[in-house]
Amino acid sequence: MDQDIPERIMKKILIVEDEPDIAELVSFNLQRAGFSTLTAHDGIAGLERAWSEEPDLIILDLMLPGKDGFAVFKELRKDSRTSKTPVIMLTARAQTEDRIKGLKAGADDYLTKPFSPKELLLRTQSVLRRSADAPGPSRYACGPLAFDKNSLKFFLGKKHVDLTSTEFKLLLYLSERSGTAQSREDLLRHVWGYSEDVHSRTLDTHMKRVRKKLGDHAGMVETVRGVGYCLRLPS
Ligand code: CA
Repeated sequence: MDQDIPERIMKKILIVEDEPDIAELVSFNLQRAGFSTLTAHDGIAGLERAWSEEPDLIILDLMLPGKDGFAVFKELRKDSRTSKTPVIMLTARAQTEDRIKGLKAGADDYLTKPFSPKELLLRTQSVLRRSADAPGPSRYACGPLAFDKNSLKFFLGKKHVDLTSTEFKLLLYLSERSGTAQSREDLLRHVWGYSEDVHSRTLDTHMKRVRKKLGDHAGMVETVRGVGYCLRLPS
């Protein structure tokens, strides 16, 4: 498809950076390259903008007032609106330790200040290209579990297993965060929204049914006492 320019114009980039000069410099250079940009000057505002605007990429400074970049990143990954959004971390700290910590946490790239605007632009383009090349968002697999997000069909190995849309949402949410315990609050909020009349027991009832449908793989869904649930890949 020969849509290079219009596609780039539409890409929205959120810059979370407390130093106005740097935020402006980054924003200016990205805009000049055809991106639309948003800025936030602290971690909390950054999260709010990320969730309300759902940008295509986030440039995240690590040293931020209030909530630091690592904490912001963790929350971005936990929320379905931004769990897949590519993130480039920025920091003045040149220590390898931070770089490793950032990449280990799952950042898509990492830049140490001072950086050249040109380098940032190249990295931004390459991260966006990589995320566009990633397998389509409609299909997702986690070990023996496979999800088709368009048709809401679920497969265990090659076998189609009938899940209700709630069960599908629950299992997909856990799968996309496998290996990490998800709190009951997060699960309730994600699957049932913010409504208060959903009881915690509803969650357990649904998990019970999901486990039953998983058959021999039921053990993949672990109860984490005092927290919630965790999906573990069979070793
Ligand atoms: Ca900073």
